[in-house]
Amino acid sequence: MVAYPISAGEPLAEPPRAHFDCLETLWFQISGTLCNLRCNHCFISCSPDNHALEMMETGEVFRYLDQAKELGVKEVYYTGGEPFIHKDILAILERTLRDFPTSVLTNGLPINDQRADRLKQLSEGSRYSLEIRISLDDHDEKRNDAVRGKGTFRQVLNTYQRLYERDFLPILTVSEIRDYLDPEEPHTDPFQKYVDLLRSIGVKRPRVKIIPVFEMGMLPIPDQATALSTDMMESYDHSLLQCSASRMVASDGIYACPILVGEEKARMAKGSLQEALKPCSLYHAACHTCYLTGMTCRNF
Ligand code: SF4
Ligand code: SF4
Repeated sequence: MVAYPISAGEPLAEPPRAHFDCLETLWFQISGTLCNLRCNHCFISCSPDNHALEMMETGEVFRYLDQAKELGVKEVYYTGGEPFIHKDILAILERTLRDFPTSVLTNGLPINDQRADRLKQLSEGSRYSLEIRISLDDHDEKRNDAVRGKGTFRQVLNTYQRLYERDFLPILTVSEIRDYLDPEEPHTDPFQKYVDLLRSIGVKRPRVKIIPVFEMGMLPIPDQATALSTDMMESYDHSLLQCSASRMVASDGIYACPILVGEEKARMAKGSLQEALKPCSLYHAACHTCYLTGMTCRNF
């Protein structure tokens, strides 16, 4: 088994390829790299003024949804940036829920009472599930706000309660960045701390997803990042990699996965989902994190 160091995502040898099984999960980078927040760990460097990836046009989203239906896609996810700053997000969710179980990843801040009411209507009017994922970065208010911005911790919990009161059970999604913020803190059972946090605001059945940090975007790739080799993939179960069964659609094309959105070498096709259904290159340092953790951006 050979692992070799890479710098800034550049491998020294031809990288291996992931197997591609079938397209089960389709992601949309609906708001591109535009977000109402400017978190200092964002792995795709989103912010209110980052136009590297633009908002997707609504008609374009609908065209991809038609293709997804023909290809038998099982579930659809919307992310960004912040999906709820897209002007047509509610209409897009309504259309998506006609055909697919649907999830939205949000920082929670743009969901006011009126929007929460509409989400409830959409959820109740569909035969498919509507899941809301709300992101937080620490169970400690000060440390969360140091990453996401002042006041965000309280606003996230307010949105969580607003949705909970309307019968949603949002999934609190946490980037595990505590070591990044405070190297002194022991790394013990972070999951339970978030469960306790939700219980403290009255949530009876807390749902928490913890995702590993990907050192990219606002976090630089370490000097000694490790690339995957063909040998390493030989006895590996490729189905553990989300790129074996998912693709990410953005305004400028279709990417191998949600993590590498915007990376030119991960762009598989433009416009046609069918053309993107082929093995992708495991060339990036982030692929090693997937390899080690088996992480998925899906709900669970
Ligand atoms: S981490 Fe999420 S909420 Fe923060 S800037 Fe990036 S996309 Fe926006
Ligand atoms: S980052 Fe992960 S999901 Fe994306 S192509 Fe690499 S291994 Fe696949």
